[in-house]
Amino acid sequence: NRSDVHYFGAGPAPLPTAVLERASQVLLNYKDKGIGLCEISHRSPDANDILADAKQALTTLLDIPDDYEILFLQSGGSGEFSATVYNLVSIWVEKKRAKIAEEVGDDKAEVLKRLRKAVDEELKLDYLVTGSWSLKASQEATRLVGAQHVNVALDARKANGGKFGTIPPESEWNLTPRKSGGGPALVYFCDNETVDGVEFPAFPHSLEGEDAPLVCADMSSNFISRKVDVPKYAVIFGGAQKNIGNTGIAIVILRKSLLPPASMPASPDLLRELNLPVGPIILDYPTIAKNNSLYNTLPIFDVWVASQVMTGLVNAYGVKRIGGQEEISNDKARQIYETLDRYPEIYRVVPDKAVRSRMNICFRVHGGDAEKEKAFLAGAEKRGLLGLKGHRSVGGIRASNYNAVSLSGAKSLVAYLEDYAKAA
Ligand code: PMP
Repeated sequence: NRSDVHYFGAGPAPLPTAVLERASQVLLNYKDKGIGLCEISHRSPDANDILADAKQALTTLLDIPDDYEILFLQSGGSGEFSATVYNLVSIWVEKKRAKIAEEVGDDKAEVLKRLRKAVDEELKLDYLVTGSWSLKASQEATRLVGAQHVNVALDARKANGGKFGTIPPESEWNLTPRKSGGGPALVYFCDNETVDGVEFPAFPHSLEGEDAPLVCADMSSNFISRKVDVPKYAVIFGGAQKNIGNTGIAIVILRKSLLPPASMPASPDLLRELNLPVGPIILDYPTIAKNNSLYNTLPIFDVWVASQVMTGLVNAYGVKRIGGQEEISNDKARQIYETLDRYPEIYRVVPDKAVRSRMNICFRVHGGDAEKEKAFLAGAEKRGLLGLKGHRSVGGIRASNYNAVSLSGAKSLVAYLEDYAKAA
């Protein structure tokens, strides 16, 4: 029975029971129309209302300013690894082309020649690699544009014996120098690394200020769990399937100045001339934005679930907005970490204290003894504490502490951690 268990899976992840109950009704019969929400047109007025409600709730929660656009795509989080590259490289190229054309006039061959040189020498995408998801994103960038254009400004494994678990100081990052009208096409980081349990404690200082670069952040696993200073980002994205809804959609919060007419994309012909990739139309931000996320068939049911979850938070926290959820998330994480720290001979938290994720709490039991960790998981299951197995690439234990994990769920885990340690 649903009420007998607490689920700590890393994604897909728990959803509020009340939302799922309403979801099962609307699947059969939406607003007494006799047909369900998966059966109605994504271009119907009802679908438009659902989309508008979802945008409104997210805007309220995160205080998203007017100069940002919200997009819904079926890309998953991984599709945005590619989308950020396609879109921001295209903008970088067009900006450069326009500048060169201003200098040399109508001589197309000369423009192309100089542009080729500029691409060869200056096109850089900066990646801060702090865990396996930012690593994957940097690998996708390399696959799309080539290693010569990808600058791994930080590989957090280097300072930590080849393993993720720290974020070295910003003074050690090797960011592409900024200059007016130049600098990297984007700087990318993953705000919360789901597999490795590493979360940026705050927005990096070196990405702020005058001539700040275009910052793209993956918030798949800590979306709407804390306040976000949206204006610092060019692109924020995340899959819905952890804190927001069910699998099937990704949400993108995009600075409007990256859309036409403020920023024009390069033409596909020009990109081909330059041996740079032309992205699929369904990942093209200008196209998705122009069509209010309805360029192609959007899974409106998924948007409805996200909207219900987010509206629930808006109603629960009122003027505190996402700050209300942040307090609860922090409190749950604090209780779990404090318990782990109380028994250092039994538990070892994997990442450094300063960068411990509030969302994915990764730890080892008995120094990572495989049999003992198996027994730990079996004991947890007996108590209805499910989904605690660490990611297959790193092993160990991972308690994912997303928004729909209740305080009582966290307390049940704390009680188990206590009992296990005392009995060990
Ligand atoms: N980024 C992060 C931080 C993730 O945790 C995940 C999935 N767990 C992804 C990206 C990939 O998302 P998707 O499976 O939706 O492509």
